Amino acid sequence: MSRRLFVTTALPYANGAFHIGHIMEYIQADIWVRFQRMQGHEVHFVGADDAHGAPIMLAAEKAGQTPEQFIAAIQSGRRQYLDGFHLEYDNWHSTHSPENTALSQDIFRRLKAKNLIYSKPVEQFYDPVKGMYLADRYIKGECPNCGAKDQYGDACENCSSVYAATALTNPYSTLSGAKPVLKTSDHFFFKLSDPACVAFLREWLELPGRLQPQVVNKAWEWLDGEGDKALGDWDISRDAPYFGIRVPDITEEKYLYVWLDAPIGYLASLKNYCGKKGLDFEKTLKDFEQIHFIGKDIIYFHTLFWPAMLKFAGAPYKEPDHVYVHGFIGVSGEKMSKSRGTGIDPLRYLNLGMNPEWLRYYIAAKLNAAVEDVDFNPDDFIARVNSDLIGKYINIASRCAGFLSKKFAGKLVAVEASNTLIRDLRSDAKNVAEMYDGREFGKALRSVMHWADQANAFVDQVKPWDLAKKPGSDSALQQACSDSIQIFRILTIYLKPVMPALAKQVERFLNVPELKWADANGLLPAGHAIGEYKHLMQRVDDKQLDALFDIQPATETKKETAVTDGTISIDDFNKLDLRVAKIVKAEHVEGADKLLKLTLDVGGTTRTVFAGIKSAYAPEKLEGQLAVVVANLAPRKMKFGISEGMVLAASGEGPGIFLISPGAGAEPGMRVK
Ligand SMILES: [Zn+2]
Repeated sequence: MSRRLFVTTALPYANGAFHIGHIMEYIQADIWVRFQRMQGHEVHFVGADDAHGAPIMLAAEKAGQTPEQFIAAIQSGRRQYLDGFHLEYDNWHSTHSPENTALSQDIFRRLKAKNLIYSKPVEQFYDPVKGMYLADRYIKGECPNCGAKDQYGDACENCSSVYAATALTNPYSTLSGAKPVLKTSDHFFFKLSDPACVAFLREWLELPGRLQPQVVNKAWEWLDGEGDKALGDWDISRDAPYFGIRVPDITEEKYLYVWLDAPIGYLASLKNYCGKKGLDFEKTLKDFEQIHFIGKDIIYFHTLFWPAMLKFAGAPYKEPDHVYVHGFIGVSGEKMSKSRGTGIDPLRYLNLGMNPEWLRYYIAAKLNAAVEDVDFNPDDFIARVNSDLIGKYINIASRCAGFLSKKFAGKLVAVEASNTLIRDLRSDAKNVAEMYDGREFGKALRSVMHWADQANAFVDQVKPWDLAKKPGSDSALQQACSDSIQIFRILTIYLKPVMPALAKQVERFLNVPELKWADANGLLPAGHAIGEYKHLMQRVDDKQLDALFDIQPATETKKETAVTDGTISIDDFNKLDLRVAKIVKAEHVEGADKLLKLTLDVGGTTRTVFAGIKSAYAPEKLEGQLAVVVANLAPRKMKFGISEGMVLAASGEGPGIFLISPGAGAEPGMRVK
């Protein structure tokens, strides 16, 4: 039965370039979409920039631009990533668009008409110099619990206590430095606590197969929360100045909170696409399954507010059919979320000339249907690409195709009836399809590589290179090579959702039309002539990964920290996460004449750091000592492994290197500032 699918990925905030977390999500969704299309299903796959809110307004101001100019510049940078990684969206739009304004105001009006939106006065900090209300992130002060200075308005980084911004001692605005004053204004609230909303969400969450079990459990925790944790109503408006969509039907200048209009951006992008294609938007919305791919950091919005908003807005809006959640991606254990753009820079990856399909394959091999984090391990990356893709899959064609073109004009003979490998491989199509459909990409690829192993064993056994030398063995040679090419073709079908560009090359080489999933049922007929084999894929070079991990700051960060006179602000300094670390282990590194390998305890987490202090310290003297580590330095791949930080040491003109050590009483993990 044919499916009709409307698929989205989470909208990236338009204040910076894509990072690897975005690209992982897009690759996951793109593979799934390509697989569905190979099945003959109809898919509309759309994305958009999330372009509203105070952070963008302030970033634009800092850059001396209007918010419109600022987001346009960001949006113009998207294409190189999308094309670069073969991410085949049908449409890429923006929440700052006429479609989104119309849809957001329509949904607001409908919810208001159902008495699910009300207004009430809210007392909030206001920056009298800047003339705007301050979100918690723009307020700092002394922690009401431990007295630590320069803590944000919602939580203390020193003692981890959580509080309201109004509880801070000596608060100041990070925008102007002014002392904020309390001021009251009316805000609109979405009444999520309404019994009808809660009853609907219970039912929505319970439908088997709609959400992953971990996601349902998480949503239940919120839904069932009591006291402080009870499900609250949602403040969905902001006062001017704000970059966003006006609250409709009121004279006062108020805006919809960016988190309200952001998910509506999914629908706006679809509507914009329908407009371009002459499709009926409302009918499409009604007829298509609505599926969102998101990261685990935004489950709350997508499983509570978003379905409730859509449900009670009523037709043509309808609640999502599925929300598929993935974890974060980290580099060798160093976790990264979408909001922390460190680690692998995807643009650098492309600019280094690294093959985008290596990354697609590697990420796919690591993904499953659970909400689990993915670890990018450089050595594992090299091994998977070189040994799986090239050593196993490509190898089948490269070992056999040449004989066919040289000796038989590329012509195949019919598959030998006794070839059970081809029979079993074809009959696995349904199984592999189920894995792709269920987002068990790692399992699907393991299955494909299992068959590639079998195929190579088959080639090893028939030995075409021996047959080619043996007189009178031509028909055996043509048979063996034909069978191998048939296998290679079916494996290409199974890999195509992950490796679309490679599959295209193979289609040309095999001289076949665009491969669909159903083509695994058939075989190339006797007499079919394949084209000449050309090398299909390069191996990854170790040096490319060295270059990839020699991270340069992203351009956006550069802009922010640009200084004219060599001084830095306290905010610049605060970007350094300096921590007390205990040297648990110190070792010589074979082949390194300056480095010691240090294992550090940074308050419960362990890190490996390579430090150039060998000339000054014997490793056994260091063990048990305290040091200071830069904890948020991007991990760096060195010849001897990944270094996850830097220990501070002093040195002068003369010889000698001196580790910086905190005074007595300091504990591993403490922040240094
Ligand atoms: Zn504190």
